[in-house]
Amino acid sequence: MQNIKTLIHARWVIPVIPEGQILENHSLAIYQGRIADCLPRIEAETRYRDAHQIELTQHALIPGLINAHTHSPMSLLRGLADDLPLMEWLEKHIWPAETKWVSETFVRDGALLAIAEMLRGGITCFNDMYFFPEVVAQAAVEANMRAVIGMIVIDFPSRWAKTPEDYLRKGLELNDNYQNHPLIKTAFAPHAPYTVSDESLTQVAILSKELNIPVHMHIHETVEEINRSITQYGMRPLGRLQRLGLLSSRLLAVHMTQLTDQEFQTITKHGIHIVHCPESNLKLASGFCPVAKLYQAGINIALGTDSAASNNDLDMFMEMRLTALLAKALASDASAIPAKQALRMATLNGAQALGLEQEIGSLEIGKIADIVAVDLGGLETQPLYDPISQLVYTAGRDKVSDVWIAGQQVLKRRQFTTLDEQLLLSRTQAWAERIKESRKFT
Ligand SMILES: [Zn+2]
Repeated sequence: MQNIKTLIHARWVIPVIPEGQILENHSLAIYQGRIADCLPRIEAETRYRDAHQIELTQHALIPGLINAHTHSPMSLLRGLADDLPLMEWLEKHIWPAETKWVSETFVRDGALLAIAEMLRGGITCFNDMYFFPEVVAQAAVEANMRAVIGMIVIDFPSRWAKTPEDYLRKGLELNDNYQNHPLIKTAFAPHAPYTVSDESLTQVAILSKELNIPVHMHIHETVEEINRSITQYGMRPLGRLQRLGLLSSRLLAVHMTQLTDQEFQTITKHGIHIVHCPESNLKLASGFCPVAKLYQAGINIALGTDSAASNNDLDMFMEMRLTALLAKALASDASAIPAKQALRMATLNGAQALGLEQEIGSLEIGKIADIVAVDLGGLETQPLYDPISQLVYTAGRDKVSDVWIAGQQVLKRRQFTTLDEQLLLSRTQAWAERIKESRKFT
């Protein structure tokens, strides 16, 4: 018998694999940061008598949610500019604010705020794209949060890097520093087709292949992006990326609201992963990603929140629900993307897109113990006929009670064990005061 340290008894265990499975009155055993066993409670009690036992009698255990697209430090800009289309929002509000404020401290405080929000919403892994990525990585490690840190590339200078070469060099340095880290992985993160030159994109394509690292990029977010590309390059962005050698199963294409039939075939052929961010797309009126059609074509779809500046929260429960609802409306088919598929997109599909499906994304023996407990006992989630339906269509992130990452409990009855909530709040409020004050004079 293994020396099991922790045994979680739950009303339901929803492993995600096999899809739709619900195990009643089961227990998960955690050993050295991994799931060592998943078995009926009655057997677990006798087999692992000496373990520390945790009782979650009205809870569902699910794999940690994977936020496959975000810009965590932007949480400090939450609600700064709303009700504007993407380009105007970026060019007139977000980019000027970033030019003025983004620094190491801004990134650190923003990332920690985002990580805290994500942890309490059941997110155990996030795929980030921002300046000062090494600071985001440090913040994640400090919180014991799993993250894929983007090596950002963009044509314009920032406080972090001056030229595209500078961005790449610094990104690769980060990649070297986090080789084989238990919580941190990296991805190339060229911002978008309209902000990165052919030369830099070609470099990214070569390096991604050589190092076998994913590429995380906004693609086909709006009609305007497509039109600009046609004017500037004589072709749609996806065609241009194909010409530059960027299309492969390492590519995470974020948004994809504009797709021709031929582009569907291109995506399938290259095994590209789609990251769907429904709430951000709705708020910026960017368009609709044809999720049901992509799903039918066998394309892997993960979910992301995008930043708290365009969303305005980092809530994967909301993204799951919107995904299921929007897909139905768009396909005029109420059976499109049932709850179990939305849950899979928020977990295992995210892991697959990031190349981490062997380690995380489902509650299977041998996988890393990234586990979330959701309390379904309250009256808002009763009566309960189907826990998966309840998770996607009824429960909100406020029902998340406990979270483990690599077997370490980071949220205990909604209290953080690795972060100081009061300190995060006071730092955030101090940023808001400074930013508000400076806007009075512009
Ligand atoms: Zn984004």
